[in-house]
Amino acid sequence: MTEYNPVVRVEESRELARDLVVIPNRGVELVPNIGVIGGSQAVLVVETGMGPRNAQAVLAFAAEYARGRKLYLTTTHFHPEHAFGARTFAGQATFLVNQEQAGELAAKGPSYLEMFRGLDGGIARELRGVELPTPDLVYPDVYDLDLGGRVVRLRAAGRAHSRGDQVVTVPDAGVMFTGDLVETGQFAIFPWFPPHDTDVSGLRWIEVMDRLAAERPRVVVPGHGEAGGPELLADVGDYLRLLRDETWVRRDSAMSEETIIEEVRALLIERHPEWCGREWIDKGVACLCAEHAWGSKARVGTTEEK
Ligand SMILES: [Zn+2]
Repeated sequence: MTEYNPVVRVEESRELARDLVVIPNRGVELVPNIGVIGGSQAVLVVETGMGPRNAQAVLAFAAEYARGRKLYLTTTHFHPEHAFGARTFAGQATFLVNQEQAGELAAKGPSYLEMFRGLDGGIARELRGVELPTPDLVYPDVYDLDLGGRVVRLRAAGRAHSRGDQVVTVPDAGVMFTGDLVETGQFAIFPWFPPHDTDVSGLRWIEVMDRLAAERPRVVVPGHGEAGGPELLADVGDYLRLLRDETWVRRDSAMSEETIIEEVRALLIERHPEWCGREWIDKGVACLCAEHAWGSKARVGTTEEK
């Protein structure tokens, strides 16, 4: 297996709207799409890239782009390639996130750091010298950040891909940054790692996608993969519904989880032969099997959550 090489290339940045650029991930695994959004007074950076070296490149790019304007940083969720560079921005930018994300970063950051370091040498290289960040500003549900002549809306999406997912929208440009709630060209990422992390929820994720799709943004910037139109949101919703339905119809017939995974994986690969990240189908099925069990309990009258 070849090593990962999760390196952000700031020179590939391109303008999506007036004073709004994206540093695209170029289809490279564990590199996120990074946004830089300007107003007359300040500039907001969305995502850091993995580790201090990537974050240093993003910070240098943003500082040059800002030309003296104040810098803000936010991250769509706590996962390493999105947020594990935020410490590099300390003292240079105000780091703000939703409360749920801040809590999740504090709770799971150390174990994710250890897990990712153990995955591969290229990842370990980028995570060398990482210190987990502490946000400067935390808000509960919604925060309207005024950049000067442009207000960017930061919103807690509610638990879906992670416990603390955040969506960033730029209403005057019709642009929405979704983080890993949306990917293009790959299967939805289910970080389902029982017993350590079981916060991802396929069911809540479907609800979040329906809500976001109803807003009809002009441009959707996914966590990874090409930016596109509002159809990206509908596509993810459709995929998650199919994953749920195909999993549950088999679960209802008391099939073993192993067999369900095998059958659903084959079916979804046939449906999307060009998508990568096939290993996430298995995790998605396992997550939805657990949510099926919870659904049955709910049906007999308990409201307890998993
Ligand atoms: Zn993620």
